[in-house]
Amino acid sequence: MSKQFAKNQTLQSRHRFTRKPNLADVNAAGHDMLRLVNRRILLSILSDRQPISRAEIAKISGLNKATISTITGELLKDACIIEEGSGRTTPIGGKPPTPLRLNAKRFGLFGVDIRSDETVLALSDFNNRIVSRVSFETGSVASSFLNKIGKEIRKLCAKHDSFIEFPGIGVSLPGLVDNQSGKFLLSVVLPWRDVPVVNLLEKATGLPVIIDNSARCSALAEIWHGKTQYAHVRNLLYVSVSTGLACGVVIDGGLYRGGTNTAGQFGHIPIDVNGPDCRCGQRGCWDLYASDKATLKRYADLRGASGKRVSTMRKLVELVEAGDTAATEAVRETARYLGIGITGLINGLDPEVVVIGGEITKAWGVIEEIIVEETKRNLLAPRSHSVAIRPSAFEVRPSLKGALTLIQNSLLSVPHMG
Ligand SMILES: [Zn+2]
Repeated sequence: MSKQFAKNQTLQSRHRFTRKPNLADVNAAGHDMLRLVNRRILLSILSDRQPISRAEIAKISGLNKATISTITGELLKDACIIEEGSGRTTPIGGKPPTPLRLNAKRFGLFGVDIRSDETVLALSDFNNRIVSRVSFETGSVASSFLNKIGKEIRKLCAKHDSFIEFPGIGVSLPGLVDNQSGKFLLSVVLPWRDVPVVNLLEKATGLPVIIDNSARCSALAEIWHGKTQYAHVRNLLYVSVSTGLACGVVIDGGLYRGGTNTAGQFGHIPIDVNGPDCRCGQRGCWDLYASDKATLKRYADLRGASGKRVSTMRKLVELVEAGDTAATEAVRETARYLGIGITGLINGLDPEVVVIGGEITKAWGVIEEIIVEETKRNLLAPRSHSVAIRPSAFEVRPSLKGALTLIQNSLLSVPHMG
């Protein structure tokens, strides 16, 4: 029995083991599994801290130097990592520690961010640097549109043939997505229904495809690539404010997907049972008060029949910036309803950080105080720390970053054992 294992068995640390083993899909920790986990921990440390020496990796990971040396040897052989400036000497003639880096050319990752109006396809290297980005008008017929995207991906593979491997394509979609069956189920903003996106895109490209909805993709992007202050955050709530409201929930570093893989539709929690009818069949859903659609309607009502029409949130935010009273009032009221819904979710989920994404966050100076005040007033149990509420770290298309992260996550995340 190793010392580490013995230490983990002490009463004080047993609370860290909380998962019931999944006996329907047993994944016992054999030698190969342990090797895979350690390899991915090392790659994640490199991704986060590079350039970094073997000694520093040993300090962070808790693994001994011999194990680090074996794993980095394998990773060098697989061309996953490179040694930086090898062969240098110190002034007194000794050999300095050789820093290690990820090999940017090892993997070319594809991300496709499909929105109702525009779709963006991007290719990034293993260091998350985007090397190509193309946009298209989103097609109303899913099969022919995905075929077209597939052709573009094949072109990019040929053009960027210096990548050793293209491990897959991550796709972000605006609506209900079942990532297990690989289907896009439905959406209010896109006329696609029951589309086997994974199947169609895999056939068109010959590459593995992973899909998810935009709120969950964005949550994943925040947990992997959000601002440095989120580096140690394990539990995060992402609220995507768009035509509708949807959320992505990260629990202990992983996305929560639920029993039928559709978790996160908090926009359809009723906040007023006597409120107006919602398209989901209920009344007074949160979505009806805090989505962009609700804010635009509120502005139109405030301006009256003779008032100026505004059809996009971007334009409404421009009016707020220009000091328009009705636009500012509409956005402030939405902020209040965002605060009401977020308070309920904080009470239920207890995240460390709440991240809000969408055009409305461009008016952060107007909405922040209202949201924070609302949550402070209504949180249960006095907290030793306040929950951080922040706009997304990605000003442009968090969901594109998320689509790319779906593939990075498949390369670096650690599997559940047991
Ligand atoms: Zn509803």
